[in-house]
Amino acid sequence: MMTWEEELQNCITDRQSVCKQNLHLTPYMDKLIKSTHSAALQRQFIPHTSACNFRFSNDYLREDEYTPVPNLIHRYNSKAVIIVTNQCACYCQFCTRQRITRNGEICFDTFENILDYLRKHPEIVDVLVTGGDPLVLKTNKIITILREIEKIDSVKIIRIGTRIPITLPQRIDKELIKELRTIRCLYINIHINHPDELTLDSKNAILSLANAGIPLGSQSVLLKRVNDDYNVLKNLFEQLIQIKVKPYYLYQCDKVKGCEDFVADIRKGIDIINKLCNQISGFAIPKFVVDTPEMGKMVLAPYSINRIDKDTFYLSNSDGLCCYKNN
Ligand code: SF4
Repeated sequence: MMTWEEELQNCITDRQSVCKQNLHLTPYMDKLIKSTHSAALQRQFIPHTSACNFRFSNDYLREDEYTPVPNLIHRYNSKAVIIVTNQCACYCQFCTRQRITRNGEICFDTFENILDYLRKHPEIVDVLVTGGDPLVLKTNKIITILREIEKIDSVKIIRIGTRIPITLPQRIDKELIKELRTIRCLYINIHINHPDELTLDSKNAILSLANAGIPLGSQSVLLKRVNDDYNVLKNLFEQLIQIKVKPYYLYQCDKVKGCEDFVADIRKGIDIINKLCNQISGFAIPKFVVDTPEMGKMVLAPYSINRIDKDTFYLSNSDGLCCYKNN
């Protein structure tokens, strides 16, 4: 079995194989795709020609406009996003940040500028460390970054966004866990879209983080012909709570160039989440959100208000309609 560093050194790549979409897989994921023949995995990771009909722009969410210093996005008053690398273990074909992840190396010499910005903006209480995938960095490098951020008193929560437990579970090793568990107010959000991604290795990696006391959430993207299906998402969310991951967000796929073939009907996501409310534990229900260029994230589901008529609230769910009077 290869170490995680050997896995990264031996990634299967085929630069710009199909209409400039890159193939980039860890040997682990390559083997998983070949052994399971999972259509959901193939569609997420293998470039395909139906994705060549570009209609969307590179920076749909206009993140570049909210970048006061390189590699820091300050879009919401209390939150900042730090891009610590543009590298990932595997490249997802629907990546929101493919303008970054497919574009050479990020020069991260600007980290001192990022820390300065955070110190000068105490309104920023929530820092998301992302990329790329932050956990492809060597342990001492990512821990140094986290330690510098945790020294800033105004920062109350640090979140890591990662797909590593899915794409390279070997990377969640004892040394990394030992260091991560000492970081103040650290949460990890795992990007996972389909139950086929949950192998024994990935479940063990996730449980080892949870059992070390690190709070875990998930974020998934609603993807056409991958997971825009009631039973697939029900299965995914039920499995996640069993390995101590709180399903946090289900995103409508961003309208980013290269994602044209992945954007599902938004009504499907709303229906699935509202229907799930009566069927599984409330703890297993994520918010279904759409990210808008104008106003940021907007919650689409779950919701129950059908209409409001003066003091009467008409509430509905998959079982029907009722009304609630305010007084
Ligand atoms: S792991 Fe995340 S950042 Fe990397 S390619 Fe996939 S979606 Fe994009």
